[in-house]
Amino acid sequence: MTGHGTREVLAVRYGNRTTTRAESFLNYHLYGEPDADLEIDYYFWVIRDPSGTTLVDTGFAPAAGNRRRRTWWTTPADALPGVGVDPAEVATIVVTHAHWDHTGNLHQFPHAQLVMSQAEYGFWTSPMASRAHFAAHAEPDEIARLQQAREQDRLTLVTGQHRLADGIELIEVGGHTPGQLVVAAATATGTVVLASDAVHFYEEVERDRPFAIVADVPAMYRAYDLLASLASEPGTRLVAGHDPLVRTRFAPHPAGPDVTNLAAPG
Ligand SMILES: [Zn+2]
Repeated sequence: MTGHGTREVLAVRYGNRTTTRAESFLNYHLYGEPDADLEIDYYFWVIRDPSGTTLVDTGFAPAAGNRRRRTWWTTPADALPGVGVDPAEVATIVVTHAHWDHTGNLHQFPHAQLVMSQAEYGFWTSPMASRAHFAAHAEPDEIARLQQAREQDRLTLVTGQHRLADGIELIEVGGHTPGQLVVAAATATGTVVLASDAVHFYEEVERDRPFAIVADVPAMYRAYDLLASLASEPGTRLVAGHDPLVRTRFAPHPAGPDVTNLAAPG
């Protein structure tokens, strides 16, 4: 085996917002509970080992975040040196799905190879993506940038389960978006499963409550089943995509309070 023993997996929190439970869980009235504020964090993820650095998503672009009134304080190119990564050394970027808060800042990595699912790319470049329910969550310029990368042979499209590198698997689950991917990375302490938006909040999978933004509800439930099953395996740990609990369930990183070491339980 190469590299697992020294592989680092980090979550970098770059923004946040206060939302509500009713806005976050699909048909929240079904649960008969009062509404309440809910903190949502925005992250991108870094997988680093001796063979190179892979980014998982690239956050939202500052202009898009400002327009949508999100709080943010950094971007990948600004944050990576703080965890010892030269942005120019990022060889691969996994685009877990094409929502605006995951596809910003791709221009910061003009030479990286991008990887996403065929279903996701096909959907967002189809006429259906312009319907309001979907268009609200994407930035047309960023979809165009993915198309440009495809034309430049810098975008690989995958289906099903895809081995990105030794010990790094991409698994297409759909649900939240038509081709949502999750990433499983082997480390010395076990497997870290980056759910991205297949699970925004742990509560979705732990209480079986679908998130409000969803393309396919049965697929979202099936993704919860798959992720719960993976998380039940010894040494495997699930990382929700937008949950502040990530920062208490895993260990802090010396780089600062917004960086979490996902290869170490909290
Ligand atoms: Zn999303």
